[in-house]
Amino acid sequence: MSKSSLHTQTPLIKSEPLSQKFRGSVWLKMESAQPSGSFKLRGIGNACATHAHRGVKQFVCSSGGNAGMAVAYCGRILSIPVSVIVPETTSARVIDMIRREGAEVTVHGCSWQESHEHAIRSIGPDCAYIHPFDDPLLWSGYATMIDEVLQQGLEPDVVVISVGGGGLLCGVAEGLRRNGMDGVPIVAVETIGAQSLAASLDHGTHVTLDGISSIATSLGARRVADAAYTVATAGAVHSVVVSDYEAVEACLDFQTDHGVVVEPACGASLSVVYNHIEILAKYGNILVIVCGGTGVTLSQLKSWHDELPLKQGTTVRSARTVR
Ligand SMILES: *Cc1c(COP(=O)(O)O)cnc(C)c1O
Repeated sequence: MSKSSLHTQTPLIKSEPLSQKFRGSVWLKMESAQPSGSFKLRGIGNACATHAHRGVKQFVCSSGGNAGMAVAYCGRILSIPVSVIVPETTSARVIDMIRREGAEVTVHGCSWQESHEHAIRSIGPDCAYIHPFDDPLLWSGYATMIDEVLQQGLEPDVVVISVGGGGLLCGVAEGLRRNGMDGVPIVAVETIGAQSLAASLDHGTHVTLDGISSIATSLGARRVADAAYTVATAGAVHSVVVSDYEAVEACLDFQTDHGVVVEPACGASLSVVYNHIEILAKYGNILVIVCGGTGVTLSQLKSWHDELPLKQGTTVRSARTVR
């Protein structure tokens, strides 16, 4: 079994609507086009293929979202049974989507942390636990995104990504490093109420949030991975925090411009180019990782847009220009 066969190569497109607003070019890496609906498949596909090669008999995962979807997809393709532990907050729609991939879903705990602890306790000897963000196998899978962008002919001047537990951050940093592009800055975007990286950078130490209040559930890790905190403090990483409202609005703008529905977790990155392009004014080629997400529908996005307060003063945390 080829280790690279689980994820798919995704389109890299120049956004005309976004580029026309701006002197430079905005490039979109369309990870929403992965068969499981998000970039997670690159990392989780790498982890699952590696464990399958070692002969494991079952995959266990804790995630009420795109990691669960990706593990379920990999299990079906590799013919390995999958058990996904999801928190009570997971929507019936997502549970249904994971079950349709043939995985067994158990609802346990009121947050991801509790599902995670339950999952860890339930793993047997021939069983691989697939962590949703804190695993070097995930990061090296995510790094293929940068390899692929270069093969597709783009050398980005800056990369915009969303941050939950920081797996994507570690992977993009690894991809840049292994292609000799360590100096390329990464804009790491979170939403208010899920800003575990920004809070750590503000405090100057790696902190754990008390809770998550953002609707961008895929960004809802109370504490980023140690490696993500290290990457963010050591390298050219710029932390930005946007409001839920801005993230949802960017999802709707993106749907209008490019016809694709993505989660607010992805809208967070998009809102930097839709609403705060000025902080990237000095860059010619801006690469946005359109991380995707299958957790929402267009009507859900529209009702959030109508219901969410326009939250004043909740724009970009570092409204300064990214250097
Ligand atoms: C998982 C996920 C994220 C966050 O990724 P991390 O590796 O946890 O930082 C962002 N957006 C989407 C759509 C995701 O599925």
